[in-house]
Amino acid sequence: MTVAPSPAIDWAAVRADFPVLTREVHGKPLIYFDSANTGQKPDAVIATVDDFYRRHNANVSRAVHTLGTEATEAYEGARTKLARFLNVRGDELVLCSGTTFAINLVAYSWALPRLQPGDAIVLTRMEHHANIVPWQLVAQRTGAVIKVAELDELGRLDLDRLYALLTPDVKLLALTHVSNVLGTVNPVREICREARKRGIATLIDGSQAAPHLALDVAAIGCDFYAVTGHKMSGPTGTGALWARREHLDAMPPFIGGGEMIKEVRFEGTVFADGPRRFEAGTPNIAGFAGLGTAVDYLSALGMANIEAREQALLERFNAALGEVPGLRIFGAAPGKAAVVSFLIEGAHAHDLATLLDLEGVAIRSGHHCAHPLMQHFGVPATCRASLAYYNTFEEIDAFVAALNKVRKLLA
Ligand code: PMP
Repeated sequence: MTVAPSPAIDWAAVRADFPVLTREVHGKPLIYFDSANTGQKPDAVIATVDDFYRRHNANVSRAVHTLGTEATEAYEGARTKLARFLNVRGDELVLCSGTTFAINLVAYSWALPRLQPGDAIVLTRMEHHANIVPWQLVAQRTGAVIKVAELDELGRLDLDRLYALLTPDVKLLALTHVSNVLGTVNPVREICREARKRGIATLIDGSQAAPHLALDVAAIGCDFYAVTGHKMSGPTGTGALWARREHLDAMPPFIGGGEMIKEVRFEGTVFADGPRRFEAGTPNIAGFAGLGTAVDYLSALGMANIEAREQALLERFNAALGEVPGLRIFGAAPGKAAVVSFLIEGAHAHDLATLLDLEGVAIRSGHHCAHPLMQHFGVPATCRASLAYYNTFEEIDAFVAALNKVRKLLA
């Protein structure tokens, strides 16, 4: 991931688009280093949501009146924009509440009817619980087993061991594109190629990739790709599942209701085709309007520029952290994303995060919904600082000064 920084973008002006970043917390300027948890939203996204409720609010796909048409255009516009952003077809993109829903949709609608005793699902040690628990539920109900691909000492997937797990009983390989704890960027294209050669379907959890990398989902060659809007500078409760059309057409509905049918009779119902079949009920229309704007915003900046900016921030961050005594960093994969999990000798993660909050710094502490990864490292929790394009070099310096201050308090 070596990308040249783009001098063309005025990052200070970009930052000024984010109203929350002007806040003070405990009398100190907010340093928001928790973007892997949820990303902050630019004015344009907030304005779109506000404008939707003020001027366009109506339900989608039902009303022929002007507001109904506008609401449908906003919702379908988001599908078109997101499809272009991911380089996939809009009629293969199911809009839903986020990655958790997207993975559960594949679990219940694709895997549950298909898997049998003797089948296996391969996961990796670095998965978020959202990409573990649905598969455990499927395994319990089908008699399938789960196998786990392990990591090397830098926090990368051990590819030889992963490929050795891909035996004929394996029906699905589900893995994250970017680790939310280690920042490791998995070589998903190569991994999907190996899985495909063996006839194994692949699901990629793109929660932490879509906000940071220039994505070409079609080129990855997976079967399913999940994203969540709130980490992409968009509203909460928005996201999408991309699935190959052959899968969508073969998958039975997951949630039944309005909007997902062609015709309902008490004798039986004919379901809608494609993504619609999986979009029962009234969606988060305002949220998707906002996500459309978020995708426009990211696209205008250029994902390659965002990636370069975040890599430059990470470089500075790593160098600055090198000056902090007693620091242990979890995950050192080359080309990793700007997510840094760490502990300081003798200090509890929650104590560090609580004291840092008093300095205006927002980081996450805990297991990061990745218990198996914590078990691997033999720790109950870590601190995690995660950066985004709207962060600054000055914030990094202020963060390290705050970290050194609280470290001394806890020593
Ligand atoms: N997978 C990964 C890697 C994540 O980081 C997250 C969010 N922390 C999720 C899945 C779940 O996303 P959501 O809660 O938005 O569905």
